[in-house]
Amino acid sequence: MADTGTDTDADTDIVTDADAAAVSRPREKVVVDGLGMRYESDRQTVQALADVNFAVGSGEFVCLVGPSGCGKTTLFRLIAGLETPTTGEVRLDSDPVTGPGTDRGMVFQEYGLFPWRTVEENVAFGLEEQGVDGATREARVDEMIELVGLAGFADAYPKELSGGMKQRVGIARALAVDPELLLMDEPFGSVDAQTRDMLHAELLDVWAETEKTVLFVTHNVEEAVTLADRVVVMAADPGRVREVVPIDLDRPRTRTTPAFAEDVERIRDLIGG
Ligand code: ADP
Ligand code: MG
Repeated sequence: MADTGTDTDADTDIVTDADAAAVSRPREKVVVDGLGMRYESDRQTVQALADVNFAVGSGEFVCLVGPSGCGKTTLFRLIAGLETPTTGEVRLDSDPVTGPGTDRGMVFQEYGLFPWRTVEENVAFGLEEQGVDGATREARVDEMIELVGLAGFADAYPKELSGGMKQRVGIARALAVDPELLLMDEPFGSVDAQTRDMLHAELLDVWAETEKTVLFVTHNVEEAVTLADRVVVMAADPGRVREVVPIDLDRPRTRTTPAFAEDVERIRDLIGG
């Protein structure tokens, strides 16, 4: 697994080999390079993505927004290595993605929890797959459950939890294997607005604490402006990047400020136009 957290060491006087490697390494965590994806079936051909290019910096929080069908999920599946692009490539720390890996954690809209497993058993899943020993696993699972605010619910089953709690389990499970990159595809689309606000605050805390790189898909422009350092605005037919909008608002962000409204307006115009 690639090293994490060495960036801060670069400021110290003594430069070790590891530090030098961290400094010379490109700041980009993810590079999407000339990415195209065409689905072909007997009945039709869909150009889901055409020449998509953008990069995500290490530790950055980037949101992808765009109309339904513009290829957001397809783009995620390509970054996750679940599908192979028709053209171009995705690079993770300069290495082309050729398949799935534990360096990328996924969180889905419909939770994707195992109903027959308790909260802690769900969170432990990836660690079991990796063959992490029982004691280490238990400690890590406890830590993750604590991190997402589910202490006391370790033995509960998914059906006993609210939507917001289920999504916290999904996040804890994705983070348990310590991925460098968190891929979230409309993760809060199924929870009510009040819960969503809470989850936003919690996710931003987790992000700040863990220094993960986050790619977050949403069709909710306010959600994107609440969360993102930059927003990649996509257009459909074929799926492509329309513009990348930096969000230069202080955190925590307040939705009632004129600056917030301006960014929301700008992105809405780009989606509509
Ligand atoms: P979004 O997530 O932005 O709504 P998707 O990536 O799901 O968009 O879909 C982009 C386009 O690709 C749509 O036209 C969709 O119908 C098509 N598509 C997605 N997955 C497949 C697939 N497995 N086979 C054929 N077409 C697909
Ligand atoms: Mg989608």
